[in-house]
Amino acid sequence: MAQVLSEIARDRGIDYFLISFTDLFGVQRSKLVPAQSIDTMAANGAGFAGFAAWLDMTPADPDVLAMPDPDSLFQLPWQPDVAWMPADLYGVDGEPIAQTPRLVLKRVLAQAAEQGYQICTGVECEYFLLNEDGTDISDGRDRQSKPCYDQQALMRRYDVIREICDGMLSLGWGPYQNDHEDANGQFEMNWTFDHALVTADRQAFFQFMVKSIAEKHGYQATFKPKPFPHLTGNGCHVHLSVWDRDRANNLFLDPEGELGLSALAYQFIGGVLNSGEALCAFANPTVNSYRRINAPVTASGATWSPNTLSYSGNNRTHTIRIPDPGRFELRLADGSANPYLLPASLIAAGLEGMAEKRDPGPRRDNNTYTHPLSPGEVKTLPKSLPDALLHLERNTVLPAAMGHEFVASYLKLKHQALHEYTSHMTTENAID
Ligand code: ADP
Ligand code: MG
Ligand code: MG
Ligand code: MG
Ligand code: MG
Repeated sequence: MAQVLSEIARDRGIDYFLISFTDLFGVQRSKLVPAQSIDTMAANGAGFAGFAAWLDMTPADPDVLAMPDPDSLFQLPWQPDVAWMPADLYGVDGEPIAQTPRLVLKRVLAQAAEQGYQICTGVECEYFLLNEDGTDISDGRDRQSKPCYDQQALMRRYDVIREICDGMLSLGWGPYQNDHEDANGQFEMNWTFDHALVTADRQAFFQFMVKSIAEKHGYQATFKPKPFPHLTGNGCHVHLSVWDRDRANNLFLDPEGELGLSALAYQFIGGVLNSGEALCAFANPTVNSYRRINAPVTASGATWSPNTLSYSGNNRTHTIRIPDPGRFELRLADGSANPYLLPASLIAAGLEGMAEKRDPGPRRDNNTYTHPLSPGEVKTLPKSLPDALLHLERNTVLPAAMGHEFVASYLKLKHQALHEYTSHMTTENAID
């Protein structure tokens, strides 16, 4: 039998546990539970009022119970007396709550597993280090117009970057590189891909870790899609491959295939392009997201974000890039994407592409920034969040896989938030 949590706590010096769930808008909500109560709490669930989080519930609804997943326990590297566990939400009747983002991902992954597929993902979570108030980047000397890979600026934040990377090393994620990215104040840290649920839990924890360690050092970290209009925004690229059940063979790999990709991989890409506009409702879920995609050129010379629903080889101007044999990269998503709903929607679109043997059309090798394709040749990305939500309302593929009840709840909350937002619009802030 697996070790109970109170024993793990004793062995590893854990005094408290965070039972954490990620809501529909990607906000992490927790209860901090002392080790002496953790076994009971893990068995019965931690109670939350659903309406108090971004969930489609009312103040009159009964509590939701967060059931932690002990297989995904992370001891906080910067606070080792505390451990974090992601949780799934259940009703007091014991029924799973369909709108729980982590359960939506599990649901889509179960559909993949039924078809004999294990899906692996890797994510690149770009972020900015800001000053304590979040009003500007933290490093006044980080002013190069082409700041990507800036060695001096990277090393001025060595203390922060190193502490985060050491954290990933101690957690066994296989981090392999850290760099200064294309905007002043922007960084990226990469760790090794894994099963999509493992990567999603790590992404959620990574956001928590980066923000916490940044604050400890007197800074503020943000994953916001476009914090500064003239600088490159925060992408959250997803790399994806489909494997057989035991992850013995990468089914996307075909040495004979175009760019080393199998027919199955191209069908998956066909599905992603087919549902691409609706996918933006999850990959680009905030008003600010649409300042990053379709954006004018930045101070560095390129936005590195896409404008069209197109795929290419090793070309960073399209929505999908094929950087290496056996995988593709979705460059669409940004740092406001929910770590669970982003892979869930992407995989939902791809599974349908494989089932329907969708043709992704021709590969495009143009530089979309200097030589854009005409709208007749290729679909363009939604111009705004309402536009993306409209596409999601019309899409049948994503709700079929992610759940109709979930999509209805998601749309309802997003529309409510948009309404709230537009009714607060002022003349100074008319197009934020
Ligand atoms: P980029 O060239 O886009 O900047 P990075 O090295 O920053 O690439 O990130 C690549 C990500 O892709 C990493 O998380 C890596 O582990 C992941 N990756 C590599 N191979 C695969 C694969 N076969 N399937 C899924 N993810 C992969
Ligand atoms: Mg209470
Ligand atoms: Mg990268
Ligand atoms: Mg990057
Ligand atoms: Mg990338």
